Amino acid sequence: MKENPTAIIVGAGIAGIATAIRLSVKGYRVKIFDANPYAGGKLTQIQLGNYRFDAGPSLFTMPGYVDELFALAGKDPRQYFNYSRKDVVCNYFWDDGQTLTAWGQKEAFAEAVENAGLGNAKDVLDHLEYSAFLFDKTHKFFLERSLHKVGSYTDPQVLGTLAAVHKLSLLNTLDGVNRKRFRNPKMVQLFNRYATYNGSSPYLAPGVMQIIPHLEYNVGAFIPKGGMHAITQSLVKLGEDLGVTYLLNERVNTVDFNGSKATGIQTEKGAYKADLVVINADIKPAYNHLLKALKKPDKQLKQEPSSSALIFYWGIKKSFPQLDLHNIFFSNNYEAEFDYLFKRLDVYDDPTVYINITSKDVPEDAPDGCENWFVMVNVPYNNGTQAWDDIIKRTKAAILKKLAHVLGEDIEPLIEVEDILEPRTIESRTSSFGGALYGSSSNNMFSAFLRHPNFTKQSPNLFFCGGSVHPGGGIPLCLLSAKIVGDLVESAKP
Ligand code: FAD
Repeated sequence: MKENPTAIIVGAGIAGIATAIRLSVKGYRVKIFDANPYAGGKLTQIQLGNYRFDAGPSLFTMPGYVDELFALAGKDPRQYFNYSRKDVVCNYFWDDGQTLTAWGQKEAFAEAVENAGLGNAKDVLDHLEYSAFLFDKTHKFFLERSLHKVGSYTDPQVLGTLAAVHKLSLLNTLDGVNRKRFRNPKMVQLFNRYATYNGSSPYLAPGVMQIIPHLEYNVGAFIPKGGMHAITQSLVKLGEDLGVTYLLNERVNTVDFNGSKATGIQTEKGAYKADLVVINADIKPAYNHLLKALKKPDKQLKQEPSSSALIFYWGIKKSFPQLDLHNIFFSNNYEAEFDYLFKRLDVYDDPTVYINITSKDVPEDAPDGCENWFVMVNVPYNNGTQAWDDIIKRTKAAILKKLAHVLGEDIEPLIEVEDILEPRTIESRTSSFGGALYGSSSNNMFSAFLRHPNFTKQSPNLFFCGGSVHPGGGIPLCLLSAKIVGDLVESAKP
């Protein structure tokens, strides 16, 4: 009897885990390797005393892409994974005392904007309608298919995208699109912020990124029961139930080829044969170390890296009722902040501060009366020249100064426990080039086309998933990269 084919996946990030599930459902015997002793890559957690923190991603949108994996496997997602929709998407704070609650229900959000004197409710609703239009016109083409296969351009649904191309704000920047709609600089800043969702600058990224607010306000922002790490845990469990073998603490050193065909891998512990290999590792180190046998796709590897992050995990021995799960304290000079991020590759001294507090929704994440603050600022990728220790010190001081000013309280004495994640440690823990969070940035209008495809013409049975390849970084897109790989594997079957 013919045995089922075997697949090896290099990297147990969220895209690798999802690809393992998809290939398993297709009948492959799957082995997934990770250099870390845990699965999840960036989507992991840390424990500091009595405080639990999601270490990386904090915003969860498009939960349907997670549910779909359970459904594919014939399982009830609710037996593995649960989540609820947030009433409040984000609380916004400015230094001049202005605040705004961004409600998940779009009419309520629009009304809050008008009541705060920041703009007309109608402009907000029109802007969100435009977001929905962009999503409708682009997701099939830009997100759910390979951009690099001819068949993607002849699909009738995709032809709709091409017909509407002049309305997609591809030639304007996100800042330009937001300025056209809003006169109040605070509203422009609020909607400019969405460029950071894939590590880009609103002053450089194309206006089509206005698609992102659609995900938060029209589809919803969600919180998994148990926090973001529950996504990793539940999908790993699903993989185990399907027979996926996880080989953790085992770094892959090279992919073996016979001619153009990938035949398996070599790790620090041994050699393994496979009928197909999927790379979930960041594309730059992958070509530098694992795929030395192949020609480097220079143009794709030279794309500007996305931003990275500096995170302080603080156990705070107090509760702040004015804060919710997601909170933003805006910089007074957003343009300068992005100039520092992408031109000077440094951190501005008045950075925008994001605070995520899962204990608002997952009370067991912090002791009674306390909160687990994940305090993040966007910082440049590590290019090897920055004096990170100094940057971290001065940025911590800038954050504390800003929070003291806006919250009217000195936060430093309330910090019970602290840990720090920064570009160098993101890089060493996840093998991501320069600690970039999302692979390459979207800082030019061609960036979507210049991301590495989910396959290579150099090998018929080598595929790529994860945040550094098409369609991009962030949990929803990583899950879509796994879907595209599943579809490509299906169509590549002899
Ligand atoms: P990664 O998570 O990058 O993992 C790759 C894995 O491959 C790692 O575990 C690594 O050890 C392994 N690996 C690499 N090379 C090898 C090798 N040679 N051998 C064996 N194993 C190897 N996304 C959102 O959707 N919402 C957010 O709010 C959000 N916020 C973020 C905040 C932070 C601080 C960070 C770090 C990321 C954030 N992201 C967010 C982005 C999101 O986390 C990533 O896009 C996504 O998790 C990347 O998944 P991935 O599949 O590409 O793999």
